[in-house]
Amino acid sequence: MIKIHPVPAFNDNYIWVIHDHTHALIVDPGESQAVLDYLHTHQLQLTAILITHHHYDHINGVEEILKHHPQADVFAPEDERIPCSNTRVHEGSLVQFTQPEISLHVLETPGHTLSHIVYHNDAYLFCGDTLFSLGCGRLFEGTPEQMLNSLNKIKNLPKQLKVYCTHEYTLDNIRFTEAADPENPSVGDYKQEVLKLRAQNLPSLPTNLARELSLNPFLRSDDVKIQSNLHNALQITVEDEVATFAALRSWKDRF
Ligand SMILES: [Zn+2]
Repeated sequence: MIKIHPVPAFNDNYIWVIHDHTHALIVDPGESQAVLDYLHTHQLQLTAILITHHHYDHINGVEEILKHHPQADVFAPEDERIPCSNTRVHEGSLVQFTQPEISLHVLETPGHTLSHIVYHNDAYLFCGDTLFSLGCGRLFEGTPEQMLNSLNKIKNLPKQLKVYCTHEYTLDNIRFTEAADPENPSVGDYKQEVLKLRAQNLPSLPTNLARELSLNPFLRSDDVKIQSNLHNALQITVEDEVATFAALRSWKDRF
């Protein structure tokens, strides 16, 4: 039985630990100590580290963790900015483990960074900084068109997927969604749910793809409702899905 546990790091990162009570995988360890403590406390042997992209808050713990768990493999995209990886993966790679028993497919999702990848199967999506609940990553390296293509790959995955984002940005993204989609009553319901969780210091994550498809404005660039809201709020006319996505992303950047 697979368990997935968030180890909080920095201000708002989560390092996801996937385990079967004996063996573990970890995703994007930006720091080491909290993860090492968790593995030690729960007597978990580390099988592998999965990396989504090169930013320091996703990789800086790798070297120190490997000192304590030298047998662990490190899966990462092809990018020299990510050291310590012994297995580079690409679009279509299948990453299979027996301990814990889980297989994950790799999708390339350029946009936040050019070499960003995500890992998924029919139940889970580990999406790094590509997708957040009701948000998406900033475009540090890619174009709006690239990021939109990446998000559209995610939109085609099974709707029941649980989505394990790496930042607790949900409330901030809900505030933006209230502006970008002001008449959507489901946003308020979700806000109440997330406020309750955060008041208890619990993560708002994972989210699920079905919710994101209906509420996340960045997954709805092809939705005329979002396009007309943009027109009302910013007095701009967007002509297609890419222009809509670009306008949403730049509005969020200065929101
Ligand atoms: Zn990042």
